[in-house]
Amino acid sequence: MNGQAIVVGGGIGGLAAAAALHRIGWQALVLERADELGEIGAGMSQAPNAMRCLDALAVGAQARAAAVPTHSAGNLRLPDGRYLQRARPGDPTPLLAFHRADLHRLLLEAVPAGSVRTGTEVTGLHQDRDQVTVTWKGGEAAADPLIGADGIRSTVRRLLWPDAPPPRYLGRTAWLGVAPAEGLPGSVTMGPGAYFLIHPLSRDRAYWAYVTACSRPGVRHDDEKAAVLGHVRNWHDPIPALIAATPSEAVTHIDVHDLDPLPSYVDGRVALLGDAAHAMSPDRGQGAGQSLEDAVVLAAALAAGPSVETALRRYDTERRPRTQATVRGARADGRRTTSPAAHRWMTTMVRLMPATLWRKGLTPDGNATWRWRPPHLPAPRAES
Ligand SMILES: Cc1cc2nc3c(=O)[nH]c(=O)nc-3n(C[C@H](O)[C@H](O)[C@H](O)COP(=O)(O)OP(=O)(O)OC[C@H]3O[C@@H](n4cnc5c(N)ncnc54)[C@H](O)[C@@H]3O)c2cc1C
Repeated sequence: MNGQAIVVGGGIGGLAAAAALHRIGWQALVLERADELGEIGAGMSQAPNAMRCLDALAVGAQARAAAVPTHSAGNLRLPDGRYLQRARPGDPTPLLAFHRADLHRLLLEAVPAGSVRTGTEVTGLHQDRDQVTVTWKGGEAAADPLIGADGIRSTVRRLLWPDAPPPRYLGRTAWLGVAPAEGLPGSVTMGPGAYFLIHPLSRDRAYWAYVTACSRPGVRHDDEKAAVLGHVRNWHDPIPALIAATPSEAVTHIDVHDLDPLPSYVDGRVALLGDAAHAMSPDRGQGAGQSLEDAVVLAAALAAGPSVETALRRYDTERRPRTQATVRGARADGRRTTSPAAHRWMTTMVRLMPATLWRKGLTPDGNATWRWRPPHLPAPRAES
């Protein structure tokens, strides 16, 4: 089988889907609402499962060159600076930290020039026996299949699953930033009801995120930088200094949402992918990684055929249980790390864990999520 798809959304998931389709010899047209492609500035980590997908998309080497190893899972601290677990110098780490824009750029480089049409907000969708037609202001296009990779507030999801509940607010709010910083190894500091994450980034920068409980969404401040600094002013170095070094306009404040499980990610010739299908809380650092997995599994299913509809059904059967379990796990992790009541229990448990056992969990196969292997993407058959 070989054909032509439309991907709605040019984020990490949509571009990964287009790159995966390109690997198997399909064409993909990516329709992106924004006038310019790009990811706004913050960081993220990718785990071994995601890195294997980037290898399958033939961008693994470039990704490793753009990333910095982060010991965020090896250095667990308390606000007064004490270590609950501490990575030793030279310890390997399975997590790589990226500036989001770097990961996005190298996926864009993996799709053929001219595959992305910006300034195109899809507003309508119609499918018949042979193809799916999408419409936007002043235009339309048809293909088979259509991949909805248009994020947590997906239009494709709303059009095909009108009864699906809207994103769920998880009672947590987060401030993010990128600051100049040299030589930080990566860490997580666990306070009562909040945590502070640091990832080192290339070009002598560090990404930070402060996540805390908040009973309602939409609480905003005139000076977000001062607001977050107020929360961690007395936390250990370099936390206050990192925030102070972040330009005010580079401090982002978001509310944390995820999606309740959908009964299916597929309707006929349309498949949802990434956050459109299974947006999750960031607490496991898996949202983009799961979208990379989706992309590779979807392309492998389409390559195997025999028809688009059967391939999409296989994609749905394979991806739904794993991604929905990850959504549940991330939701529960976030609840624990931002609950003052769970703080004492969590920190005691981490402190009592023997360091050897803790490090064992930090190998590339250290948990079921990281252990996952992508299917093989067959090279396109030469035209006869
Ligand atoms: C604070 C935070 C930290 C995170 N940290 C990590 C991490 O460390 N590791 C990790 O793997 N994940 C992490 N994630 C999750 C990750 O950011 C997302 O899962 C991932 O970016 C989702 O990619 P996507 O392409 O599915 O959706 P998006 O990035 O939301 O992309 C959707 C695209 O679709 C476009 N679009 C929307 N509607 C339309 C339309 N109607 N027509 C055309 N285009 C449209 C949008 O403009 C956008 O470009 C984090 C998330 C948050 C919030």
